[in-house]
Amino acid sequence: MTDYFKSLKHYILEEMRMSHIYQPAMLKELLINGGKANVNQIAKRLLSFDQAQIDYYEHRTKTMVGDVLTKKRNITKKDKDIYSLPEFDNLSEEEVKELINLCDEKIDKYIEKRGKEIWSHRDNASAYIPGSTQYEVLRRAKRRCELCGISADDKRLDVDHIVPRSKGGSNDISNLQALCYTCNQQKGNRDDTDFRDILKSYEERDAECIFCNLPTERIIEENELAIAFRDGFPVTEGHTLIIPKRHVADYFELHQPEVNAIQSLIYKCRQDLLDNDNTISGFNIGMNCGEDAGQTVFHCHVHLIPRRKGDMDEPKGGVRGVIPNKRTY
Ligand code: AMP
Ligand code: ZN
Repeated sequence: MTDYFKSLKHYILEEMRMSHIYQPAMLKELLINGGKANVNQIAKRLLSFDQAQIDYYEHRTKTMVGDVLTKKRNITKKDKDIYSLPEFDNLSEEEVKELINLCDEKIDKYIEKRGKEIWSHRDNASAYIPGSTQYEVLRRAKRRCELCGISADDKRLDVDHIVPRSKGGSNDISNLQALCYTCNQQKGNRDDTDFRDILKSYEERDAECIFCNLPTERIIEENELAIAFRDGFPVTEGHTLIIPKRHVADYFELHQPEVNAIQSLIYKCRQDLLDNDNTISGFNIGMNCGEDAGQTVFHCHVHLIPRRKGDMDEPKGGVRGVIPNKRTY
């Protein structure tokens, strides 16, 4: 046993601290390749462990290329999940080489002619969203699929556009969500929503609405889909309203990216208030949805109301106070 073998073995068994499969995968590639490999080879080795990508291309193989070559063209045969060239054994080694070269030429020419566009159907793949943004989305989702709730420990999560890039959706974090592979796939397969209408709807404003026509100097925080400003008749000092830019009556009409955008501003405003006023010791967050629930301005808004010790005699019950005699119990 050489010392070098021992030191590598020791590293793999005792010292390697894994935050992903990357280290053993890279070492394996180097070992397979006579001790050397370029970045591209190593990347391909890492890719070979990415089950979501493999699932995706297995699906493509079965439903697309496999069908074309087997059923339509009779070039390949299929037995369970094995594809074969029925008369492969009749080919000489030279002939096999020549056919491989022809395939390579066809691939190269196709890529040369069409460019990167041939991968545009994968534009929603996580690889196209910067790592730091992906991290932020996963952090916000607390490592769970935002549709079914499954934990990242049980199923791999992808960061995905809500309105697809190809349909004009933005890269803004409000348009991103963490989905498990299954939910993402299902969404992709059945989603025939006309996204142009949704995108246009974000522009909707009401000429008569005071919140649609707020003077810009009133705005204290803003992102792509939401704004925040101080309430004109504050319940407590710092009382803030967070609203979608789109004119909708209430919460229940919001699109998910708007919910995300509003949530993001709630957090920002809360932090800002806390940073600037150390007397704040709590918050009420509330929405009045509908006239009977007390709504007076019919452009959806979230009240963020800072609370301070002693700001009323008996704070118990908080938002339960919508029915005053039920506030305490
Ligand atoms: P709601 O009763 O939930 O519909 O809340 C409407 C809120 O909008 C109230 O808290 C009002 O004080 C606030 N408000 C009404 N008009 C204005 C305005 N022009 N600027 C800022 N806040 C306003
Ligand atoms: Zn409005």
